[in-house]
Amino acid sequence: MSSSEAIRRQYLEAMGITQWERRALVADARVAMASGTVAPDLVASSAGASPDWTALETSVRTCTKCALHSTRTQTVFGIGNRRAQWMFVGEAPGADEDAQGEPFVGRAGQLLNAMFAALGLRREQVYIANVLKCRPPGNRDPQADEVEQCEPYLIRQIELIQPKLIVALGRHAAHSLLKTDLALARLRGQPLSYQNIPLVVTYHPAYLLRTPSDKRKAWEDLRRARSIIAETATP
Ligand code: URA
Repeated sequence: MSSSEAIRRQYLEAMGITQWERRALVADARVAMASGTVAPDLVASSAGASPDWTALETSVRTCTKCALHSTRTQTVFGIGNRRAQWMFVGEAPGADEDAQGEPFVGRAGQLLNAMFAALGLRREQVYIANVLKCRPPGNRDPQADEVEQCEPYLIRQIELIQPKLIVALGRHAAHSLLKTDLALARLRGQPLSYQNIPLVVTYHPAYLLRTPSDKRKAWEDLRRARSIIAETATP
């Protein structure tokens, strides 16, 4: 077994995917690779500067629009491929993200990486951002006024990236993008979109760490997302 296959297996195990499912998955992945839907998108990355991105990064870095600016260590802008097909949106930075300036680098981030690997994706291929760019103290829920002030940054990121699909991780991301307060259970599995971009709602990885029995349902959501991407793939 190659070392990359071993890593992939580890990730699938972290996602709670059983051995027989893994076999089906390998077959799936081969089909997806053959059809080009998970072919590496090598146009990188957050390093590629453009005036639009530079202006947006500056606005975020210097933002004082809500009280969170006074408690943050630094802003957490977002990371990944600025021409990504997949965009993942979380809630807000936690302590690790506030310290490192990058989204999803703590335990929830490790599970998110596992979710990418289970899909045959590398972290650098996708784009990851949060609704809030600053950490709420004590990791409390985002407040309505914070979302209102910060959301335009996420909206601009989506406009610039134009992903083929958005995955909303947890209810805060889903509620913010869809302007609804429906329960996550009502949003999962529904055909949804944000500005004509298909949007799939799934559980937040931090919730999955607390409730591993729901990883199976998260995996169903991700497979659905992958089918949507495959349907919209350009030949
Ligand atoms: N949870 C989130 O929603 N975002 C992060 O970046 C980290 C944890």
